[in-house]
Amino acid sequence: MSKTKPNYDAARIEASRQAAWEQRGDYEAPSPEEGQARVYVKPSSPFTSGNLHMGHVRDYSIGDAYARFRRARGDAVLLGFGFDAFGLPAELAAIERQEPPAEWVAQCGERMLGQMKRLGFSFDYDRVFYSSDESQYRWSQWLFLTLLEAGLIYSEDATVDWCDTCQTTLASIQVEDGRCWRCHNEVRLIRRPTWFLRITPYLEENDRNTERLRNWDDLSLSTQRYILGRSDGVELDLEGSGGSLTVFSPHRRALALARFVLLSPRHPDVEAWTESAGVREELERMRSGGWERSARDARSVPIVDTGATIAGPGGAELPVLVSPLVDARYGPTAAFGIPAVDEADAELGRRMDRVGAEQGGEEAAAAPVPGAREAKRYRANDFSISRQRSWGTPIPIVHCESCGAVPVAAEDLPVVLPRDIVATGEGNPLAERPDFVDVACPRCGAPAKRETDTLDCHFDALWLWVPAAVPPADRAEQMFTHPDLRQWLPAERLVAGGDSGGFVFDQRIVTKALRDIGPFAFLEEGEPFAGCLFHEMVIADGRKMSKHLGNVVNPDELVAQYGADTVRLAVLYAAGPAKTLNWSDGALRFANRFLRNLWTYSQDRFAQLEEATHDPAAAADTEHLRDRLRKWCENGLQRITEDVEQLQMHKAIRNVTRLFERVQDFEKRVLQRRGQLDRADAEAQVAALVLLIEALGPFAPHTSEELLLASGQLDSSGLPAPWPRSAPIPVAAGG
Ligand SMILES: [Zn+2]
Ligand SMILES: [Zn+2]
Repeated sequence: MSKTKPNYDAARIEASRQAAWEQRGDYEAPSPEEGQARVYVKPSSPFTSGNLHMGHVRDYSIGDAYARFRRARGDAVLLGFGFDAFGLPAELAAIERQEPPAEWVAQCGERMLGQMKRLGFSFDYDRVFYSSDESQYRWSQWLFLTLLEAGLIYSEDATVDWCDTCQTTLASIQVEDGRCWRCHNEVRLIRRPTWFLRITPYLEENDRNTERLRNWDDLSLSTQRYILGRSDGVELDLEGSGGSLTVFSPHRRALALARFVLLSPRHPDVEAWTESAGVREELERMRSGGWERSARDARSVPIVDTGATIAGPGGAELPVLVSPLVDARYGPTAAFGIPAVDEADAELGRRMDRVGAEQGGEEAAAAPVPGAREAKRYRANDFSISRQRSWGTPIPIVHCESCGAVPVAAEDLPVVLPRDIVATGEGNPLAERPDFVDVACPRCGAPAKRETDTLDCHFDALWLWVPAAVPPADRAEQMFTHPDLRQWLPAERLVAGGDSGGFVFDQRIVTKALRDIGPFAFLEEGEPFAGCLFHEMVIADGRKMSKHLGNVVNPDELVAQYGADTVRLAVLYAAGPAKTLNWSDGALRFANRFLRNLWTYSQDRFAQLEEATHDPAAAADTEHLRDRLRKWCENGLQRITEDVEQLQMHKAIRNVTRLFERVQDFEKRVLQRRGQLDRADAEAQVAALVLLIEALGPFAPHTSEELLLASGQLDSSGLPAPWPRSAPIPVAAGG
């Protein structure tokens, strides 16, 4: 009578379920029906590094569990995915292997997608994109031109690291102790024209909106506030030899103690205060001196004394100094130096003879200064978006001797990056390709040169949350104006690592810009993500995983040994998203033991149900126990549902395991009382098991589905199973 009950064979179960999912087309984003909730879940877009690491597994396990939960509840779900495929990591890997980065990226992507499928992540794989595909980067170019036209992109000289031997600029991670990573020669700083993204017009709105964001967890909100770097205080208009100056301080009650005024080298009026030849030279030296590296340390940050003074709030003449320390604290503004109340100012004061050491009078000055207005400053500032690298989106600009920098016409996009380019680490391979560089000026037709800088991959990332919402077949022709965007945006949830705050901040800025320019007018708040969950990283032995330390955990090995469901369950269960996950085999063993126990126990009970007989008197005697089991199920389900809604998967899993203990406890009590289960008891027990197996679905989807089929309660036409409402255990007659 009893069926064969195979042992828990994860490899077999997972292969069979994954084949079924693929056949059913479960993960294709549906066309939402009238009244159906539309849920776009956006996990992070990884670099094409070649291997998923445990941080990715954590990210996608959370996003996938949430997507499966929302699908099971009947919502239209898009779980989108794409690679951040341009940029330095791929270029460096390609240099090491002496192959075109395009080939390296394709191999890596294929391999990583294979790993993701093996883990059972339910992305809409047909919608996967690479930012380095022509059909993608043409839209990065479109975005560049659109923001340029709106005045949100501009060109300005900036300082970059340069290696004379390699004839190339270097990214900061390629500079080790002031030396080139490749040839170990000393690096010097040069000034060259650089493209910048202007974000300052939207800082205030990002600030205001941050207070109104719902469904953003504390970690994601705190990163937004940190990047914004808001300081509240007062400002005062002062007059001096360089004209009038509005000066800020967060120390509103100590203005009268100001001993100097510190001006940012990026302050729009800085030229007027640095007119004498010697001072201007010093300022230029500061600007080309790589001060970004030490701009936060008051002991070493460069200072230029302008020699000028300005009449301070206490009546004294205050020396006017220039230092990038202002930028690092308050952005490109002017700030009071108040050594009596500010440690950094005190340090600067000690370094400047002219400031003087006198620092008394705190009490006398602890009163508001007339004329001081409430004010705030933001540290976040415009940033450079161009790099002298070959593996990136070509900037759609042509340099003409007579017309200057001319934008490429939108209908001439994409400006195609030669696919066969091989980066060597020397020079800029793009600049050495006449077939790329030499072009007619779009305006006057004269011979001209293409811009050979490419866009930093951070610029591509500004809109990497968009492509998955557009059907692949349409992407070459239509992107930012595609009608589907209205149904999927804003994304219901972004799930990303705790270090993604900068990306998210800038994505929020660009959304506002595109709202004002037009295409995203339907996003009235200018927010790309309605909800956001940031999770901390995965470490091992209390340290960051690294090849160097030999503590890297390889997800493939874990999947081969334990199965995908065990790995997913362990990663989710081991720590809440706000906590760093210190990886240990303990969580794996726990998850694996739980799945094995549930597997065997459930199949035994499914089989026993077939043999159970009914006796009304016996059933009546255990009615109160069934009633209690029903309440446990209801409470458990309610808790699990709330936990998953808040993406607190570790809590949800704990509640699933607790419910399993209670199902076992129910059986124990019935056996103690009657020696065997009546059919009514067995039915109630199986109903409870089915409920908990359904609730396990988002976390261990393979095991869950296979057990549901084994339960005999539904056949494959009932899959994927809906989220349970309650266990069908009859309510006791008496109450
Ligand atoms: Zn070098
Ligand atoms: Zn021209």
